[in-house]
Amino acid sequence: MKNPKIIIAIDGYSSTGKSSFAKLIAKELGYVHLDSGALYRAITLHALRKGLIDYRNRIDEDSLMDSLSTLKISLRPEVYLGDENVETEIRQMDVSNSVSPISAIPFVRAFVDNILRECGKDGGIVMDGRDIGTNVFPNAELKIFMTASPDERATRRYKEMVASGKHVSFEEVLKNLSERDYIDSHRSVSPLRQADDAIVLDNTTMTMEDQMVWLKGILRDQFGMDV
Ligand code: C5P
Repeated sequence: MKNPKIIIAIDGYSSTGKSSFAKLIAKELGYVHLDSGALYRAITLHALRKGLIDYRNRIDEDSLMDSLSTLKISLRPEVYLGDENVETEIRQMDVSNSVSPISAIPFVRAFVDNILRECGKDGGIVMDGRDIGTNVFPNAELKIFMTASPDERATRRYKEMVASGKHVSFEEVLKNLSERDYIDSHRSVSPLRQADDAIVLDNTTMTMEDQMVWLKGILRDQFGMDV
């Protein structure tokens, strides 16, 4: 029997490994993985390049709104601005430091929501972010809310950045994560929160393998999947 093409929504705090887990699930099920944070990051990169954010993270919202009307942004599933693949640029610290204020702007969220809903309308996707189960796909068949201790999350992120040749301190990474979590959880539109029907996954002491075993149990029990 063919496995059903459901929508799997993965939300949670920064650097809990949502994207890595989502990618692996998509591979396992033959689904498409969509990283919604990449869209917010790409818009932030665009705003930084256009000089629409100052050093205190004050944003020229009118100009940003104007520029979004002609901005060609796509998830294929890597993120593109026009024909430029910006996957590497959007992971830099300057983007990380400005992405939460940008993603708190209501018209930015509406713009991203449209793209995400279009990408996911046929199911067979694993989408990760902050508001996928609560706002983008409130009817997603499976919702997972990921968390881990702040120290563990910062350690993972720090190691990842150092391994890719970036010069950052552990304190800088930890500060960025806590600031983003705070802004993401306290904004007025679609704040980060656990959906009532989400299943919590605290992976502080879990490997990726442990997480897959955990997930496969759910896919078999709740969806009768052959995994
Ligand atoms: O997932 P990632 O850490 O790359 O997301 C970057 C930022 O994008 C988050 O800190 C958050 O401010 C924003 N975001 C959001 N809603 C989503 C996905 C990401 O507000 N669904």
